[in-house]
Amino acid sequence: MLGSRLKIPQLSTGDLLRAAVRGGSELGRDARKYMDAGKPVPDDLVIQLILSRMQQKDCENGFILDGFPRTVPQADALDKAFKVKRIKIDAVISFEIEEHELLDRLTGRRVCPNGHGEWHIQFHQPSNPGFCDVCHAPLIQREDDTEQKIRVRLSAYRKDTEPLKKFYADLKLLRPVQADGPMPAVMQLIETTVKELS
Ligand code: AMP
Repeated sequence: MLGSRLKIPQLSTGDLLRAAVRGGSELGRDARKYMDAGKPVPDDLVIQLILSRMQQKDCENGFILDGFPRTVPQADALDKAFKVKRIKIDAVISFEIEEHELLDRLTGRRVCPNGHGEWHIQFHQPSNPGFCDVCHAPLIQREDDTEQKIRVRLSAYRKDTEPLKKFYADLKLLRPVQADGPMPAVMQLIETTVKELS
């Protein structure tokens, strides 16, 4: 929603990795075993993927990074690349939400197998329940959206990603957003945050 409002692309490392898995590249094959287990993909693979995506023309006027950086070494690599390119980070948004709410959202998520988007069995149904609004393919549950794998992902978050909040707070870039409300309410909070930047 923010990407279409600002007319800039959203670069999601999760989406890029899933596309690499679908495409059957070597990187995709390497990444798959980590992703299916709910574990973080090694830093060097993710950094290589995102830095090359940022070179594309549609990123010239800015972009939103989604799910990256997730570790301090990734944040350091990003910082280095941005210094060379003289790119400045405007803000780092941290979505604040209780774990039980997160579990409901992730276990109920259903995605298009062709990468057209994601829905929820309760909170965000497609017009024809169970089928993609774009290509009409039957929606599927992501391998890593089971409760057991979500718990693995949450523990990786606590260990490797949460320390980034201090990293970006020290740089005065962190903007926490309360994310437990419905989508339009969360979007409103993000818009307010973004407006305050200009
Ligand atoms: P996501 O779509 O952001 O939930 O990511 C799905 C999976 O892709 C994660 O559980 C990781 O296995 C992998 N992944 C995505 N982004 C990263 C990242 N920045 N660093 C390491 N692994 C990642």
